Amino acid sequence: MADMRDPLIPVAEARNRILEMLPRTDTETVSLREAAGRVLAQDVVSLRTQPPSDLSAMDGYAVRARDIETIGASLRVIGEAPAGRGFAGQVGAGQCVRIFTGAPVPQGADSIMLQEDADRTGESVSFRETAKPGQHIRRAGIDFAIGDTGPRAGTRLRAADIALAAAMNHARLEVHRRPVIAYFSTGDELVYPGETPGPDQIISSNNDGLGALIEAHGGIALDLGIAPDDADIIRAVAMKARDADMLVTLGGASVGDHDLVRPALEADGLVIDFWRIAMRPGKPLMFGRYGDMPMLGLPGNPVSALVCALLFLVPALDHLQGTAPRLPLSLARLGRALKANDQREDYLRARLDHVAGELPVATPFARQDSSMLSSLSGADCLVIRPPHAPEAKAGEMVECLLLRA
Ligand code: AMP
Ligand code: MG
Repeated sequence: MADMRDPLIPVAEARNRILEMLPRTDTETVSLREAAGRVLAQDVVSLRTQPPSDLSAMDGYAVRARDIETIGASLRVIGEAPAGRGFAGQVGAGQCVRIFTGAPVPQGADSIMLQEDADRTGESVSFRETAKPGQHIRRAGIDFAIGDTGPRAGTRLRAADIALAAAMNHARLEVHRRPVIAYFSTGDELVYPGETPGPDQIISSNNDGLGALIEAHGGIALDLGIAPDDADIIRAVAMKARDADMLVTLGGASVGDHDLVRPALEADGLVIDFWRIAMRPGKPLMFGRYGDMPMLGLPGNPVSALVCALLFLVPALDHLQGTAPRLPLSLARLGRALKANDQREDYLRARLDHVAGELPVATPFARQDSSMLSSLSGADCLVIRPPHAPEAKAGEMVECLLLRA
């Protein structure tokens, strides 16, 4: 049973203990478009050399540099090389080829003259600059060569990674399967958004908020709805999570008479690893194993639920997908003084103001009640106050968790 004498566990230790218990999802092969935002399961090895041959980087004329050692030198144009169709012949002494960006540099030529520096009259062209050998030529393989490694296993694929994999001639990529996160809220007072609540009821904000967070971090959100404060129904709803990669419960996680998640699920094989974290908001956070499935019990207060999800569930999602979790941390200067902190690590909702050439200024809001979603929605970052941090003056440096991409 839950015991109030159980120790308060530091945030970082709690996170590590969660990650240690999580497997990686298996992999699947998907199209490049589907791969965006997913985590690569295998290094991408190039099937091509790029550029495949020396290419012109400009529109102009392909010349022999030694023919244009003086300004005003004139050459005869013997042909044309647009991108995708190289000039078949050889550039000899006194000759050049009209060339366009991306076209192969013809045999014999070793330099590209810009069209802006050329005066063309019929088949003859003279130049207002001299030539340097190699200028405006992209050498074969300067981007990558066949067999080179592009994006590596464990990379969450951004647009540039997808583009590189495409250039390396991969149409499909092996990525980790999106983990399915099943979750439900508990509470007799909760109804769904859009419904008409009874006089003592409120709207469940957590179901959709958590779903959005899961999907934003590569998971599949399986919303099992709202369970009333009834142990049998909680058990029945939790059963529906059977095939998920992880079960998350929302609310009912502290030790009040109506906090039934733990006793209800313990009767069904839940084994708790830890349940009290030294943090604010969100002390009553549970983690354990429900049968084979990792189970995370988040607090019901909406701000606590989302902040704890950011600190524990988002790293868990990264880990499940095969990438190393990395919290979006940044340094900032405090916009106002703060009192000394107690033993719980504090995450204060704050505004972040950017200052040119200096650290941004993070100003914690005066009210930090863990039920106030308006202030979480309005926050740019969470100022992190370590346990027992002494009083802090305005202007002191603090660490922040960034909330906007
Ligand atoms: P609990 O963790 O169940 O004790 O809930 C703590 C507080 O959060 C209570 O005021 C609940 O009404 C509220 N709460 C619990 N679940 C939700 C939810 N899904 N959406 C909004 N508020 C909630
Ligand atoms: Mg409750």
